[in-house]
Amino acid sequence: MSWRCTGQTNAELVNNLFRNGLIKSERVRNAFNAVDRGHFSKAEPYSDAPQRIGCDATISGVAPHMHAYAAESLLPRLNPGARVLDIGSGSGYLCALFGHLVGPTGKVIGVEHIPQLVQMSEQNLRRDPLHSQMLDEGRIKMVKADGREGYPEEGPYDAIHVGAAAAGMPEKLIEQLAAPGKMFVPVSEGYNQYIYEVEKDAEGNVKKNRSHGVMYVPLTDAREYSSS
Ligand code: SAH
Repeated sequence: MSWRCTGQTNAELVNNLFRNGLIKSERVRNAFNAVDRGHFSKAEPYSDAPQRIGCDATISGVAPHMHAYAAESLLPRLNPGARVLDIGSGSGYLCALFGHLVGPTGKVIGVEHIPQLVQMSEQNLRRDPLHSQMLDEGRIKMVKADGREGYPEEGPYDAIHVGAAAAGMPEKLIEQLAAPGKMFVPVSEGYNQYIYEVEKDAEGNVKKNRSHGVMYVPLTDAREYSSS
């Protein structure tokens, strides 16, 4: 996938994701065009590959085609005014993307457990006046916390994105989903990881659909990184 979607500019990357069917909708395409990936990663930001997001060589971001897949999957719950939780927010890229999708009446909470990354994500966001404004108005809020607990203070959430693999189905996060609501989460099963698309309907019934196999970094304890 990567070689087909890589571009020299943000616009080229987005066009390639669209041409290859990863971006399907106009809304997701517009949001991708509104967020310059160059503000969020240091090297080759327009290549369709995971990027080092700084702080620690073991922390890599997620490739743009997975971001496109996740955004399309959550799109029915990313309407204007929606509340979104992004666990493992890393560089802050997806928070910006979600910020555009949910508009001025929506709210995006990014949860990241490495304090340096929380700080860096805010700096990245401030490189664009639009995203700076979203931070100032509280439409995007970056929080240092253990994402395995979710962030019940701001819930329930219409959409939850998890950017690192959970050790098992994260029931605490399902509890924080609104009814209706949808979660996109990589889950480890033995040596494999699979994307689960978890949907809660208006009555609170939960359906868990297992999708394709993936390779994400795991959701871990922060202290495993804290010496760096
Ligand atoms: N969402 C970003 C980054 C993904 S990398 C992107 O798509 O590019 C995964 C991120 O999860 C890393 O920044 C890592 O520090 C963070 N992470 C890992 N375990 C975590 C935990 N328990 N709580 C919060 N964040 C965690």
